[in-house]
Amino acid sequence: PLIMGIESSCDETGVAFVRGCELLADEVASSVDEHARFGGVVPEVASRAHLEAMTPTVRRAAERAGVRLSDVDAIAVTAGPGLAGALLVGVSAAKAYALALDKPLYGVNHLVGHVAVDQLEHGPLPKPVVALLVSGGHTSLLLVRDLATDVRLLGETVDDAAGEAYDKVARLLSLPYPGGPPIDRAARDGDPRAIRFPRGKWGDGSYDFSFSGLKTAVARWVEDAEHAGRAVPVPDVAAAFQEAVADVLTRKAVDACREHGVRHLVISGGVAANSRLRRLAEQRCAAAGVEVRVPRPRLCTDNGAMIAALGAEVVAAGLPPSPLDLATDTSLPVGSVMAG
Ligand code: ATP
Ligand code: MG
Ligand code: FE
Repeated sequence: PLIMGIESSCDETGVAFVRGCELLADEVASSVDEHARFGGVVPEVASRAHLEAMTPTVRRAAERAGVRLSDVDAIAVTAGPGLAGALLVGVSAAKAYALALDKPLYGVNHLVGHVAVDQLEHGPLPKPVVALLVSGGHTSLLLVRDLATDVRLLGETVDDAAGEAYDKVARLLSLPYPGGPPIDRAARDGDPRAIRFPRGKWGDGSYDFSFSGLKTAVARWVEDAEHAGRAVPVPDVAAAFQEAVADVLTRKAVDACREHGVRHLVISGGVAANSRLRRLAEQRCAAAGVEVRVPRPRLCTDNGAMIAALGAEVVAAGLPPSPLDLATDTSLPVGSVMAG
């Protein structure tokens, strides 16, 4: 079946078409530049941008895929979690297409979509698989026995998300928003052992994470340097911060694989684009006999492909479609693959 996926939970308007694990087109319009000067996503600005971008993005994606909308077999849309106004634009558009084309509508979970998207690059996910989801708003370890029907939360951040920590630390270092890419770049010229930053919840026996202490430690370190009149060695701070994040993420992910006897790990979400996280995960997984899969960076950040990929899964699993009065859920828990 041909699935159209629509994503609008944050600041990317994404529309994609997939058939099974085959990605036909994936168009993204981002309003990230409009938020840059505020140092974070402004919800009203994001909603307005979605509204303007939605129809042209659907058209462009269909053109690229070489399909007509009437060929679509099902429409999948992010129902949550995300920003209320932003979600509403995608869900309303999806309902309109479902109604106009007389096709079933599936309101799906954005976070599970981040995991499902890997199938478009590496083929069907092994069952079970441990998923490390690291994005701007979430940091979670999941045990996925089945993408459509059995996703279990093992642990999550108790405060900041990993991506949020990147964005805040970038701000402390006067690097642009979003902070992940510039920190990743700056860290290339730095020494990760120059400074030892704290690893939150290290070895506490849980699969939870904490990044607010790390962010505070970086802030204090930068302040101390400034007070002492020393220039802040941005590459060293970036490398040491990045090391602390990658260290605790990969350790807990590998521990989860061991405890549950799982031989496969998938890492996704925007922070999965991080070069140090990818490298360290490969090393530690190889040592533990775990195979690691990370989608290409373009698929790690928000896009329609992840939603279409998950849509294909729920359709294949035979789950019932969502009602046309499907509601958005800003805090949809990750264990709920479909909303409602
Ligand atoms: P959520 O999926 O939780 O709703 P989101 O969709 O906003 O949040 P994503 O688009 O998946 O999050 O990821 C964005 C985050 O990824 C930003 O915080 C950004 O700084 C971070 N990021 C992007 N590239 C990199 C990188 N190379 N290294 C580290 N972080 C990165
Ligand atoms: Mg984004
Ligand atoms: Fe996301």
